[in-house]
Amino acid sequence: MTVNTDSMYEKQLQDHLRAIHQYSLSSIGFPTATDFNYEAVYPFFGYMLNNIGDPYEDALYKLQTKEFEREVIDFFADMFRAPQDDRWGYVTSGGSEGNLYGMYLARELYPEARVYFSAASHYSVDKAASVLRIPTGVVAAQPSGEIDYDALCRAVGQHAGRPAIVVANIGTTMTEAKDDVARIHHALDKAGVGSRYIHSDAALAGIPAAMLLPHVPFDIQDGADSISISGHKFIGSPMPCGIVVTRDSVRKKVARSGMYVGSADTTITGSRNAQAPLFMWSAIKRWGVEGFARRAKDAVDLADYAVDKMGRTDYDAWRNPNAMTVVFKTPAQRIVDAWQLATYDGWSHIVCMPGMTRQRLDAFINDLQRASLA
Ligand SMILES: *Cc1c(COP(=O)(O)O)cnc(C)c1O
Repeated sequence: MTVNTDSMYEKQLQDHLRAIHQYSLSSIGFPTATDFNYEAVYPFFGYMLNNIGDPYEDALYKLQTKEFEREVIDFFADMFRAPQDDRWGYVTSGGSEGNLYGMYLARELYPEARVYFSAASHYSVDKAASVLRIPTGVVAAQPSGEIDYDALCRAVGQHAGRPAIVVANIGTTMTEAKDDVARIHHALDKAGVGSRYIHSDAALAGIPAAMLLPHVPFDIQDGADSISISGHKFIGSPMPCGIVVTRDSVRKKVARSGMYVGSADTTITGSRNAQAPLFMWSAIKRWGVEGFARRAKDAVDLADYAVDKMGRTDYDAWRNPNAMTVVFKTPAQRIVDAWQLATYDGWSHIVCMPGMTRQRLDAFINDLQRASLA
C-alpha cells in the first residue's frame, strides 16, 4: 500500500486551519486586533528576507525592508512625541523584546541602578531584570492596577544613593491600568533620586493612550526614555512583533559594531524579521493617525457597552478609564474555556479590540447569563 504523503501533509494543515478558524470565532480574552487583511504583503513570503542590524544602516544583505521599517518607526516616534532630530527605534519580535531593550539601555547607562516596577507588571519585566541581572524592587499596585506612587517613593528612597530605573505600565495585562509617568518623576524627586531612566511598557495600550483624552503622561515628551508596544495587539499583525522607540542620543551610548554584516549591531537579536515591518507599514498606510484614533474610540465605546450590559448580570464588570479591557469575577470553567478568558486570582477579562463586534459580545454575555442560571 502506498501512502500519499503530500495529501497527508495537506490534510493535517487543512484540519488545523479549520480548528484555528473555529477558535478565532470565540477568542475575546486576548488583546489581538483582527480587523486586518494583508494579502498585498503575501508575495514577500516567497523570499528569505532579513533586516539584520541597525534599521538606519543598509546591511550587505539586500533582501530586506529597512526603508519600510524606518517609516514605521518614524510614524510611532511622531505618535509618542520623540524629538524630530533625536529619535531611534526598531521593529522588535514583540513587547517583551522592547522591554528587554529599554531595560538594557537603562542598565548600560546606569550599571549601579535598581529597577522598580509594580506588582501588576507583565512577567517580561521581571524576566528582563533577571536576564540583565538588575536588582529589582517590586512596588505595590492599587486595586485598579495602577502603581502606588507613595510605595514607589518609599522603595526608591531606601536606595536613594543609587540610580533608579522605573518601568511604567501603560495598560497592565489584567486591568489595563496606566501608570502616570509625571507622577513617577515626582515620586523620584521626592525620594531624592536624580539619576533615573523610565521605560514605558505600552505593549497593549500605547496607541489608545496616545489617541484618547484625557492624556495620561507616558510618552517621550512626558519624560519616558523609551517606549515599547506590541505589533500584534492594537495595530493588528498576524504574527508577533513590536516597536521600540527611544532617543537616538540615548541608544548611541550603547551601540556595538556588527563586524561582518555591514551594519551596526544595535538591536537585541541579530537577524530580524523583515516581513513584520511590512504588516505594520500596511497598517499605518491604511489607518493613518485618524484611523488609529477612530479604532481606539470604537474599542473603548465597545468596552463601555460591555460593562453596561454585563452590569445587569452577577459578574460585577468594571473597567479602568479609557480601557478596552473589561474585568469581571471569574465565571464557570466551561465559560472560561469556551471563550478563552485570561483568568487570574478570581478575576477574568475580555478585551474589546478592533475587530470585535457587538454580536460576538452579545453571544458571550448571553452564554454567561445562561451559565449563571444553570
Ligand atoms: C503583551 C504584553 C507584553 C509582552 O508583549 P509580547 O508582544 O507578548 O512580547 C508586555 N507588557 C504588557 C503590558 C503586555 O500586555
